Amino acid sequence: DGSCYLEWGQNKVLVSVNGPREVLPKHQANPYRAIVRYTYRMAAFSVTERKNPRPGRRESEISKVSGEALERAIFLERFPNTAIDIFVEVLDANAGTRIACLTAAAVAVADAGIPMRDLVSGITVGRADGNALIDLNKHEEDAPDAVDMAVAFLPNSKEVVLLQMDGEMSPKEFTELMKTAADNVEKVYEIQKKALKDSYENKKPAPVEGMDRIAAMHSMDKEMNDDSGEKVSMKTKDPLSFDASDYSETELEEDTADAEHEAFDGGKE
Ligand code: UDP
Repeated sequence: DGSCYLEWGQNKVLVSVNGPREVLPKHQANPYRAIVRYTYRMAAFSVTERKNPRPGRRESEISKVSGEALERAIFLERFPNTAIDIFVEVLDANAGTRIACLTAAAVAVADAGIPMRDLVSGITVGRADGNALIDLNKHEEDAPDAVDMAVAFLPNSKEVVLLQMDGEMSPKEFTELMKTAADNVEKVYEIQKKALKDSYENKKPAPVEGMDRIAAMHSMDKEMNDDSGEKVSMKTKDPLSFDASDYSETELEEDTADAEHEAFDGGKE
């Protein structure tokens, strides 16, 4: 029902959304709201050292926290007894994939037309080699003093819906990094909105050949080109106004109708 493909640095992720739809197995259904089932998977070929394709604990954890983050943004109570399934596949990874996936998933949910109170926009912030950084890559994440923090917000209310951290830092450093995250996530939010607007534009039906002529005929007193290219002034009626006199000439007179009937049965009747 909705999808999103995102490239963020070297990260390449693909998201598809199905729902709200029937919950199977049925016992998982919640009579008060929709459930969100978020499935994060990393392709075996997405990292330098082949990843075991069997889903591991890391993938279960990311799926759980990301699904819960999205639940905060969706009007779940409008769709009781249904499931919203979100499938996320990482095709290429260079750190920060959970945030790239969550950000793309929010766009895919909106693309599916599911009502949301806000998008979810994420960013990673941290430290490597003594420098505060945003959007760390794998090399920076592996620095000896590395701190890497994944943060996701509802961008309009700045409510934090996901926060995970690797490494150690002081409370002061934490506060500063959170502020950096909140300031910079705005850029992510703008890109998400632009993607949705562009996708909506692309979904508009392509113009039909000759539509301009039809549109001109349905508007009042338009000038239009005839077949030889000459400009002719059309005095057309507003199609919504009804005037019985317009139709009187085309209506069959009662006498004519009788005559035609006689002609049909050879006047035997
Ligand atoms: N990674 C890997 N093999 C794995 C899991 C992760 O090579 O089985 C790499 C991958 O590039 C990933 C990075 O380690 O992006 C950081 O992983 P982390 O668990 O911190 O999640 P992420 O930063 O991608 O959200």
